[in-house]
This record gives sequence, structure tokens and C-alpha cells, in this order.
Amino acid sequence: MRHNLKVDFEIDVCIIGGSIAGNYLAYLLAEQNIKCCVIEEHEILGLPFQCAGIISQKILKLAPFPKSLILNRVKTAKIVAPNNQSIELSGKENPVIIDRIELDKFFGKKAQEMGVKYYLGEKYLSHWGLPNNKVCIKTSKNNIVAKIIVGADGPFSKVAKRYGIKNTMIPAVQARVKFNYDLNKTAMHFDQRWKELFVYIVPEGENGVCRIGLATSDHPNKAFSNFLKKIKVDPSQIISRQGGALPFGYPKRFAFKNTVLLGDSACMVKATAGGGIVMLVSAARILAPAISKSLEKNDFSQRFFRKTYERLVKRSLGIELKLHFLIRLILMELKSEDFNRFFRMYLNSKDLYEIVENYADMDFPLKLIGKLLFNREFMQFVCFSFYYKKFAYHPKYY
Ligand SMILES: Cc1cc2nc3c(=O)[nH]c(=O)nc-3n(C[C@H](O)[C@H](O)[C@H](O)COP(=O)(O)OP(=O)(O)OC[C@H]3O[C@@H](n4cnc5c(N)ncnc54)[C@H](O)[C@@H]3O)c2cc1C
Repeated sequence: MRHNLKVDFEIDVCIIGGSIAGNYLAYLLAEQNIKCCVIEEHEILGLPFQCAGIISQKILKLAPFPKSLILNRVKTAKIVAPNNQSIELSGKENPVIIDRIELDKFFGKKAQEMGVKYYLGEKYLSHWGLPNNKVCIKTSKNNIVAKIIVGADGPFSKVAKRYGIKNTMIPAVQARVKFNYDLNKTAMHFDQRWKELFVYIVPEGENGVCRIGLATSDHPNKAFSNFLKKIKVDPSQIISRQGGALPFGYPKRFAFKNTVLLGDSACMVKATAGGGIVMLVSAARILAPAISKSLEKNDFSQRFFRKTYERLVKRSLGIELKLHFLIRLILMELKSEDFNRFFRMYLNSKDLYEIVENYADMDFPLKLIGKLLFNREFMQFVCFSFYYKKFAYHPKYY
């Protein structure tokens, strides 16, 4: 019965999701004159706003955009322990705070100008393979035949679900708040009560507004209001509230027959900080040539996409994303006193300070971890926190 459906149009590539992953990929494909379209369930690109918008400077080289989209640049990250002791990291990172709504729109507009057709207010429903090596995509308004479908439809991806992939999700809460905070500084407050992330304070710029948020699976709204009370934010200072979800894990499978996943749908998110933009933009830059080659060779097999996309992304980003996840699992095991002890140790150790200042990287932690593994104080801390506490001091062994 499905095969009797009226086909509304045919296209080479159909991208589901018109947010940063979908729009940036559409722009890269349009640059190569590949015929593609974007299906977006919302009427307006960039909305709803669900992002703190803090990205490492690498984005400026990976996906250049106008300077007017940069609202602020921060020089220091203040990391706060549960007992309010804090350390400040300056490093070379100098992340930018961006206007995320306008960033999504910017690449969407560019793609449209280059001939990509956008179907806004239209929802992807399902897709299935056709005998002619193509797929039929059913949306709320059209039946589309395409050679390739890209699932850039975010953490709750329906395209991913079609292949049995379901991301573990951590609810996130955020608010734009009138809050006097140092323009040059971003803050991260660690606590066991929000162990899957930290509370972040990100100053938007000279407008005196900060984006404050957290992610936790344990009563996020309550944890968030308690934190706002702690830093003496009155409800009248809250300008708007945002919500969202962070996929929790690392990318496992994201290439299938005629189908690939990109961005949050493939869990390309750093489990330490919840950021996904540098990762998905880097992955899109691998995916665009892979799509171009597959159209050239008329090969849309899972084997082809695994070889030209999945394996390359895993090689360049996968190890780092797994490391982010491992660090997060370790952080989740730490108790408040462990955090406090770590901060004390850091403040008294010149070696640790130098390693962190020279090797810390918001996106790629491999080098830093490599250096820390050879630092005696750090390893003593890890051994004490995990080995001794769990085994040596365990009542079972006395
Ligand atoms: C509170 C919060 C703060 C964050 N802060 C940062 C940060 O500071 N820095 C950073 O790098 N990252 C941050 N992130 C993560 C970042 O926002 C995501 O990694 C990024 O938005 C993922 O982009 P995406 O295009 O893959 O998915 P999304 O941005 O989720 O977009 C998916 C798109 O698909 C559309 N869609 C979904 N289903 C369908 C359907 N069935 N049919 C049609 N369209 C559909 C949606 O409407 C949406 O437009 C944050 C996330 C949250 C929740």
C-alpha cells in the first residue's frame, strides 16, 4: 500500500532538522551544488532558543560567521567547588559567546540563497527503502523520494529511532537573567546534586544579562531554583526561561543504508560540558564530502557511509567524545568532599596548575589527560578517591 503513495518531489539529499547541524550541512552541500532540501518542524529557524552559546574559538576557523554574531568573549573560567572554594583557569581558549538564534539563521539563509529549499512547519514522520536504491520520506505535508536522508533532528531524533537508536537524555534548565557578573568570566559550579553537568553562568555581554543553567536527572527545576536563591537571584530578574535535553554518552552507530545521523541525534555532545557545536560542525565537514562521493559513485550502502563517514568521525572525534564521557562518569562518582579536596590540592600544586593552563582544551581532552596520568599528585588523588575509599576503607575489608 505504501508504494502507491503519490510522490510530491524527488531530491538527492533530504535533511531532517533545520538547526545548526542541518543548516550547516545544507550550506556545505550547496557549496558543492548538491541538490538538497531541509525539513524543519518549526516555522522559524533558530527557535526555540535552547543554548548557552559558549563555544571555543575553534568554531571561527571551522565554520566562519560574521563577527556581529559574537556577543562576548570570556578570558577566564571560574570553577567553584561545593564549599565555594574556587580556581580560575585562563589558558588559551578564550571562548566566544554567540547569538545562537542568529547563528542557526545565518547558515540557513546562506543555504537558501545557494538554492536549498526549506520546508518549514513540516514534520518528518517516517521513511522506508524503495527497490530502486532510494528512500521514500513521509512528512506531515509531503511524500519525498531521496537518495540520502540525513537525521539532524536533535536529541529526540525520530530518524535515529527508526534504526533502534535511542539516546539517554539529561534534562537541562536555563534562564536569561539580569545579573551583575564579570564580563570576562564564565563560572562553573560543581556539586553532587547536579552531577551530570555543572551550573554555568555565561555573561552575554554589556547588556548585563547572564545565561544561567544546569542539567541533571534529579529534579532539575528544583535544583535550579535553589541555585538561583543561593546566588541571590530574585524571580523578577529572570527575563526568560529555556529548557532542553542533552544526549548523554558518545556516538556509537550513525551510518546506515541511505541514511546518516549528524549532531545531537548521533550523540555528538561532550559529556563533560554539554557542548555539541564544535563536534557537529567538525563531523559535518567529514559528512559533506562523503555524501558528494556517494552520489558520484551511486553507492548509498551502509558499508560506504561507515567507511567514508562513521569511521572517520570516530577516529577524529570519537576517542575524544568517549574520553569526555569517561571523565563525566568519574566526576559523577566524586562526593562533595572529593571536589573540595581536589580544589585544595590544585591550589597548592604548581605542577598541576601548569599542566592545566598549558594543556586544557574545551573540546579535546586527550592531551591533558595524557599529562595528568603522569602527575603524581593527581594520580594519588584518583587512587584515594576510588581505590582506597571503595576497597581499602570499605567496612567489608575490616
Ligand atoms: C540548555 C542547553 C545549553 C547548551 N549550551 C551549549 C553551549 O553553550 N555550547 C555548545 O556547543 N552546545 C550547547 N548545547 C548543545 C547544543 O545546543 C546542541 O549540541 C546543538 O543544538 C545540536 O544541534 P542539532 O542541530 O544536532 O540539534 P538541535 O539543535 O536539537 O536541532 C534539531 C532540529 O530538528 C528539528 N526537528 C526535530 N524533530 C523533527 C521532525 N520530526 N521533523 C522536522 N524537524 C524536526 C527541531 O525542531 C530542531 O530545529 C546546549 C544544549 C542545551 C539544551
